[in-house]
Amino acid sequence: MNAQPKDTRHEDAYADTATAAGVDVDADGAGGGSGTHHVLVLGAGYAGMSAAVQLGARLGRRQNVRVTLVNAQERFTERLRLHMTATGQQLAELSIPELLEGTGARFVRGWVTAVDADARTVRIDDDRVLPYDTLVYGLGSVANLGAVAGVEEHAYTLNSPEDAAALADRLARLAKGNGSGSGSGSGTVVVVGSGLTGIESAAEIAERHPGLDVVLLGRREPGATMTPKAAAYLRAALGRLGVTVRSGVEVVEVLPGAVELAGGERLPADAVLWTSGTRVSPLAAAAGLAVDERGRVLTDAALRSVSHPEVYAVGDAAAIRQGYGVMHGTCQGGMPTGVHAAVSIVRTLKGRAPRPFRFGYYHTPVSLGRNDAVVQFTRPDDSPRRIHLTGRTAARYKEVVSAAPWPTYGRMKKMPASGAVWPRGGRFTRNGAVR
Ligand SMILES: Cc1cc2nc3c(=O)[nH]c(=O)nc-3n(C[C@H](O)[C@H](O)[C@H](O)COP(=O)(O)OP(=O)(O)OC[C@H]3O[C@@H](n4cnc5c(N)ncnc54)[C@H](O)[C@@H]3O)c2cc1C
Repeated sequence: MNAQPKDTRHEDAYADTATAAGVDVDADGAGGGSGTHHVLVLGAGYAGMSAAVQLGARLGRRQNVRVTLVNAQERFTERLRLHMTATGQQLAELSIPELLEGTGARFVRGWVTAVDADARTVRIDDDRVLPYDTLVYGLGSVANLGAVAGVEEHAYTLNSPEDAAALADRLARLAKGNGSGSGSGSGTVVVVGSGLTGIESAAEIAERHPGLDVVLLGRREPGATMTPKAAAYLRAALGRLGVTVRSGVEVVEVLPGAVELAGGERLPADAVLWTSGTRVSPLAAAAGLAVDERGRVLTDAALRSVSHPEVYAVGDAAAIRQGYGVMHGTCQGGMPTGVHAAVSIVRTLKGRAPRPFRFGYYHTPVSLGRNDAVVQFTRPDDSPRRIHLTGRTAARYKEVVSAAPWPTYGRMKKMPASGAVWPRGGRFTRNGAVR
């Protein structure tokens, strides 16, 4: 059901330092430890892009440092908007190589298949091997397909643009009455997971396809982390859109045409969207990097791997501890981790020590279709403040948030310091609070 975001076409940006047969060296003898210092960034998501642009802008075209960004696709994936892709909305074409033009960072398109942390090399899917002296690991996270039986075979996900587009096709066919489901222009779409991705997806599908029945299933009430007032608004908005919410339920299997709940109840489904739980790439654990129970790279205060300090881990792929606990995956926190890793690498190259990373959350914006949203403002530890926005104002706020990363990268290219501004978390992360 899920399309693997795997590519075999590569630019030759790194061709002079890597070969299909194995690690090659620069003309000057560089390659994983000598002469030229290779900084390799894996993953061009919100965090990896931040790192690559910052490194490219701050280091420029220095003779002795090479910055290379490796990603599965040339087109930047606006993951914050994949629920829009899943309802047939076209997103902007954002070219990563074009964005990097004019910086010292170059782009290699490829699917990373292995990291050798001892040899300090990365293998990509055409068997090219890229050496590194410093690695930035930012391969993100995806919905957990192994969560219960049948997800991989029978459920759709938002794990990649291709997966989201496959759901869009299915929904369009159902809405036109061409699906294999329950009749002309109708059908039931079950969204599993009452977290933010599930809520946004259910609302978007209900708004775009009013003829379809949308059911949102989850363990917790939607908006459970918000204030009661904000959560009440969110649930009322889902109701207005016609989304049926069932919380306190546990899905135990996805079947062709149904989902089964604990207790044996079966809900018919013409399409199932799975958003519950996340998993990270197994590559870090396979490489022998110290990881947590979810496979995320364990970092020190400066975002370096606790087992391999030449590896920085950023974004969803990293387990980053702050005073309030381990950060959870967001774009708002992911971009600062990428910037901080880049700044730390530049400091280290200049012989200076990296500084501790500090970050405090400030909002939880949730879209409810295109014209409505809830923005819950938060304390640095992500607990809700009393203040929140709703309605069109919140929808405009959410749109500004979703649109912001790409122009931010553009600004960082010219003025890297502009990207180094984010809430540090105050007393929540001050002094001994950063561990
Ligand atoms: C529908 C939806 C809405 C969301 N809304 C919000 C929101 O409003 N606010 C917010 O803060 N967060 C939101 N999030 C969460 C946010 O998108 C993630 O936390 C964020 O994308 C993490 O950034 P990242 O750079 O760590 O990883 P990602 O953005 O996942 O990027 C990882 C990159 O690595 C690439 N990659 C992965 N494996 C390989 C490999 N083996 N080889 C090569 N390339 C690889 C991927 O293709 C991708 O380009 C939302 C998520 C979804 C799905």
